[in-house]
Amino acid sequence: MRVIAELGNDDVANVYIAESETGRKNGIRTNKIEFVEALKPPFPRERKWVNIVSTLYGCPVQCPICDAGMNYRGKLNSDDLLFQIDYLVNKRFPDGIIPCDQWKIQFSRMGEPAFNMAVIDVLESLPERYKAPGLMPSISTVAPESTDHFFERLLVVKRQLYPEKFQFQFSVHSTDEEVRRQLIPCRTWDFSKMARYGEEFYSTGGRKITLNFALIDGVPVNADKLLKYFDPDIFLIKLTPLNPTLSAETNEYSSKFDSQIELELITGELKSKGFEVIHSLGELEENAIGSNCGQYVSMLEKNNTTLQDAYTYPVNNMINT
Ligand code: SF4
Repeated sequence: MRVIAELGNDDVANVYIAESETGRKNGIRTNKIEFVEALKPPFPRERKWVNIVSTLYGCPVQCPICDAGMNYRGKLNSDDLLFQIDYLVNKRFPDGIIPCDQWKIQFSRMGEPAFNMAVIDVLESLPERYKAPGLMPSISTVAPESTDHFFERLLVVKRQLYPEKFQFQFSVHSTDEEVRRQLIPCRTWDFSKMARYGEEFYSTGGRKITLNFALIDGVPVNADKLLKYFDPDIFLIKLTPLNPTLSAETNEYSSKFDSQIELELITGELKSKGFEVIHSLGELEENAIGSNCGQYVSMLEKNNTTLQDAYTYPVNNMINT
């Protein structure tokens, strides 16, 4: 694995594009990924440092709001997963001692993590690999069917190694099953199964389980239905904008997060049912950098720079492959 390009702003976020030794076509390396480091301004890196790593080369789910699914080419192995973390650590903290109050490693850049068991191997290795009292892994998943073994192992690792510091999130997006299937076009756990797993995960200690909804025009989020399955003492609701990805634009999805009236309405409904609700709005500059959710690799491969508010930072150090 080697980094072939980077872009961004040290005070907000940087995106790194890398390519693997594995996967070649006509002598050219085809397996590219990207990973990100981000800060939470105005806090310094030592307060909170977020690393967002890829787990798959693309993603087979192909959600119509995400650019990761444009070109799926398989799973990263443990070495290539660790390469991303090592690269960032070596750049910022070459002695391997990460003094951050919170060092969050999100396995959520390119790829649904539950499709890659090497993610669990890496989670097992992190506490020994680095001196990092603030280490907090984060898994965000759409909960695909046929990945139960991943979640069983995750529960064991969480219980043994991260009893207090672990962020676990289901990406849900809609309470309407048919709409959810359109937005997440693969077979997923139903709400009952998600609730059971979340309850068991939470019982091992630490934070509430997050249910994430990217607020999208015309996509229903029903507070009564959530309450039917999810206990507000165990689950919290995170509302986010729909990120300005190429796929979202092509498929004509638009965010309703910007509408203060809509946002207050849904937030009020959820709170009235007892749910804690958080609004997660990244730095606007993150859209320009492309470090939020959109996938720079896909943009480069498609040579498409038509979005107005995203992917507008110049790419530095591009190695000609
Ligand atoms: S949102 Fe997640 S599951 Fe869907 S295509 Fe993107 S990476 Fe895959």
